[in-house]
Amino acid sequence: MEVIRSQKRTPSNDTVSNPKIPLYLSAPQMEVRLEEFELFAVDRLRVLKGVSDGLARGRNPKEMDDLVDTLWKEHMRDPDASVMLNKDIISHFVLRLVYCRSDELKKWFLSMETALFRHRFRLQNFEAQRAIVGEFGLPYKAVTGAELEGLKERLGQVVRSLGQISPTVEAVYYKVPFEEVPDLVASRRVLIQKGFAFVAGSQLVSLVVTQFRSHISKALILTNRKWTTTIREREKDRLTPIVEALSTSYLGPDYSQSTEYAEISLKDIDQVAKSSFPLCMRHLFEKVREDHHLKHGGRMQLGLFLKGVGLKLDDALAFWRAEFTKKVGSERFDKEYAYSIRHNYGKEGKRTDYTPYACQKIILSAPGAGDHHGCPYRHFSEDNLRAALGRMGLSSRGMEGVMDQVRNKHYQLACTMTFEAVYGTSCDAGINHPNQYFEESQKILKSKTPPAPV
Ligand code: SF4
Repeated sequence: MEVIRSQKRTPSNDTVSNPKIPLYLSAPQMEVRLEEFELFAVDRLRVLKGVSDGLARGRNPKEMDDLVDTLWKEHMRDPDASVMLNKDIISHFVLRLVYCRSDELKKWFLSMETALFRHRFRLQNFEAQRAIVGEFGLPYKAVTGAELEGLKERLGQVVRSLGQISPTVEAVYYKVPFEEVPDLVASRRVLIQKGFAFVAGSQLVSLVVTQFRSHISKALILTNRKWTTTIREREKDRLTPIVEALSTSYLGPDYSQSTEYAEISLKDIDQVAKSSFPLCMRHLFEKVREDHHLKHGGRMQLGLFLKGVGLKLDDALAFWRAEFTKKVGSERFDKEYAYSIRHNYGKEGKRTDYTPYACQKIILSAPGAGDHHGCPYRHFSEDNLRAALGRMGLSSRGMEGVMDQVRNKHYQLACTMTFEAVYGTSCDAGINHPNQYFEESQKILKSKTPPAPV
């Protein structure tokens, strides 16, 4: 795959004639425009993040099929099948580069790509599925004629033992060395005879997914080798910064401008903090009220959030001044702190309009002793988190659900479940940004407030 600056891409005939789900066996021989390199990867990342959310929420296989179908249509579909296929291939290889760079990244990518493949495969018709088996070069032959007739009795026993509502022997079975389908053997879902397992057509997915996973796993190791030995250095001025930014990129709006739901003033800030701030910001807000001080990381995290929820610069200065002067006095406040508040609003220095932090950035921060920034779902001890959730009014059942997600390191999902428990409504998009939490909360609360009498 050669990345070029800006020129029409020339898809190869080979790519266009691939089956509907490519197997990503080798890097595509085509030119890719630099803009597409990043845009396609971001679109695929949206699909993989959606898959990750679906799995973490415990969706069943049928629900996952529907979710994958929706995500794919939303982010990857193109009216031209060959363009869509190229986008599919390019985006996969770009993300392979992005996610080969550490064991943790590899593990996530491998799981999500495998899950995506599994559900896309399940959505194909039988002919397309057989084409994929052929493409992988899997040497399995369908059992036919007298051999199948001779097995029908015993195949029927296996089907009945699975407790299906209407057990029927399927029309197509594959004869496979039993060690290649360990999951089906372990769960006694196949007939085994003379070292072969007889895999029903509907169980084909298990075979193919094992192959797919093993192929991607090996490919990630090879890609990592190429990345560290040549690509990273060779592309240090062009692709490397894009690749390095993609794994932590936040894909939603930046919340740098306040909206109709994000408009707060000093007089109601305490009440709004209680009703609509996510836990990370509630904690910082309570700390600044309690200690009359916050260290740099906390000031940045809370300060930019407040800017995003519509606190005007003058109000922000008044808010921080009222607290900090109780501790450091007004002269020191003006000298050491006021500048950086104006700076955050783009009124000092390079006059950059800084954007509020997204969850991903907050979760990855590393608060030290005396710091209060970070994400409570990741950085609080279990006892502190339980106490904080209790103060937000979570029932013990709701709290257990949240703690399960925390134990599995799904911090944003834990926050989403907190949101759902507090406001009694689902949040299918998931929480990705503290300012999104705030806006969604305000929408709900304002829709419940009766209009003022005229
Ligand atoms: Fe804040 Fe995001 Fe953590 Fe929720 S998940 S507490 S919004 S950083």
